[in-house]
Parts: sequence; structure tokens; C-alpha cells
Amino acid sequence: MKKPTLYIVIPCYNEEKVLPITSKLFLDELQVLIVDGKISPSSKILFVNDGSRDSTWDIIVNLSKANRHFSGISQSRNRGHQNAVLAGLMDSRDKCDITISVDCDGQDDIAVMGVMVEQYLKGYEVVYGVRNKRDTDTFFKRFTAESFYKLLNVMGAEVVFNHADYRLISSRVLDEFSEFKEVNLFLRGMIPLVGFKSTSVYYERHERIAGESHYPLSKMLALAFDGITSLSIKPLSLITCLGLVVSIVSFIGVLYAVIAYFRGNAVSGWASMICIMCALGGIQLISLGVIGQYIGKIYMETKHRPRYIISERTDDLKE
Ligand code: UDP
Ligand code: MG
Repeated sequence: MKKPTLYIVIPCYNEEKVLPITSKLFLDELQVLIVDGKISPSSKILFVNDGSRDSTWDIIVNLSKANRHFSGISQSRNRGHQNAVLAGLMDSRDKCDITISVDCDGQDDIAVMGVMVEQYLKGYEVVYGVRNKRDTDTFFKRFTAESFYKLLNVMGAEVVFNHADYRLISSRVLDEFSEFKEVNLFLRGMIPLVGFKSTSVYYERHERIAGESHYPLSKMLALAFDGITSLSIKPLSLITCLGLVVSIVSFIGVLYAVIAYFRGNAVSGWASMICIMCALGGIQLISLGVIGQYIGKIYMETKHRPRYIISERTDDLKE
């Protein structure tokens, strides 16, 4: 069987501190895979510069000049992690047989790439990298991250538990995935929708080698909400249920008020009145907000704007 060509797709945003360290680790792993005969010698490491404001792109350009296994593309501006990964995957799908997307900070165990490729050779088209332990994370990070996956599943966005964006995807799956045209991206929830034979490999997640996380709690909440509203309409059904419950309770309240009126003690109950009004107002505003989020997404989808724009390529510089 012909050895598959692998492209390792790595999004980078302001990563000048880690890139010089991790690029060597990625290259070592790629070379190990080539020497072991698992992948073709034409395999590459593709960095996607996500509109960094520091010297990340210069580092990528220099790396690609120094070694033919390195190459890079640059987004015209910062579009976020998901769009950067998508740009890399879509750009490499017709040049390779398999892609592995991985963060550039060395948190995900690079050594399991070999296992991922082995699974591909056994016939799996998608291999999810799943964290088996979170010992290095603080209790807070672990708790919020695990709640994140639970919330997603409860809300109808099916994702692989403890799997982030470290995964192998065959270019065949990517070709099918390119038909998913939505601009609201939540890759870890979308890839399972493509189907095909998939499996998971387990690894330990380390601490960031250098630099800082771009995913504080606020961004994680935003990602969870984005994931839910991109993949599921369960919140809308929940609003309907909530509306029903509130209507029934209100109906009982109305009955109570009418009876109280006829019994002549209608003035009392000011406090309960205020409570009900506030509660109803709050529920209505939240519900409107959720519905508004969906309308906002529909609005963004109708524009059909490009999901990424590549402004520079290291391959162009070489010619
Ligand atoms: N990243 C990106 N664009 C952004 C933010 C992050 O391409 O706007 C990249 C970043 O360089 C890294 C990956 O996405 O390779 C994950 O980011 P980070 O490590 O900060 O997130 P965490 O691992 O803390 O969740
Ligand atoms: Mg990280």
C-alpha cells in the first residue's frame, strides 16, 4: 500500500514564545513517522498564522526556508482558532491523504500522532484525540472544562467527551466536510456529523510550554454557547417548555387573583405581584435573547461570507 502523505495543521496566534520550541518537536515526530515508514517523505507541517500581531509569521517564514517539511499560510486577519484550523484543513486536503490538527503550544501529546496514523492504516477515517487525565489542570479549569462537555451534550450538541481539536481526518472526509458551508464553526461538533468510521486515541494533556492561553472562562462560555446554538435547536424547545410552565403558573395566579378580588381582599399581595412581574420579565428577556442569537446566526449565514481569507503563503516565497 502506498504510504499516506500527512499534513499536520497547526493554528498559531501570537505564539512567538512557543513556536521556536514546539516546531522542533513537531519536526522530530514527523521524521520519526517517516523513518518508521508510516507516512510518505513528502509529508509536511502546515502552520496557519491567524493574523498574529507579533513575529509569529516571520518565524514561520524562516522555518519554511530552513526545512522543506515546514510550510505556512497566513490569514488576512485574526479570525479565531476554528477558522484558522478550517483554513489549514481546506488548504491541505487536496495535497495530502491525511491531516492531523493540533494546537501549537505542545499541550497535546505529539507522540500519539503515530498511534493516530496506525488507526488510519487500520481503516479509520477520523481519529479523535481524547484526554484521559486532567491532572495538570487546576481544579477550576478541570471543573469548567468538564461542565462544558456535559452542558453541550445535555443541550443536544453531541461532542466526544474531553476531545478538543486534536484529531486525524482523512482527506476523503474533508472533501465531504467541505460541503458543510456554515460560517458558524464548531469543528468538534461538526466532524462527527460527517460520519465515516471513527475511533479515539487517549493521551495526557500537558501544561502549555510557554506563552498564555487564549481561552479564559469567558471565551470558553462563548464557545459552549456557540457550539450549542450552531448544532442544536434544543434551547428553543426549552424556551417553549418554559413558556408552557410559566403560562400554567400564571393561569393559576390569575384564578387566585379573581377569587381574591371577589372575596374583597385584593389589595394585599403587592409583594407577590412584584415578584411575578420581575420573574416573567427576566424569563422573557432571556428567551428573547436566545431566540435573538439564533436569528443573528441566520443573518450571518445568509451573507455567505468567506470563512477564511489566505493572504500569504510560504510556498509563494520559495519560488
Ligand atoms: N489560536 C488561534 N487563533 C485565536 C486563538 C488561538 O489560531 O484567535 C490558536 C493558538 O495559537 C493555539 C490554539 O489556537 O495553537 C489553542 O489556543 P490556546 O492554547 O490559547 O487555548 P487552550 O489550549 O488554552 O484552550
Ligand atoms: Mg493550549
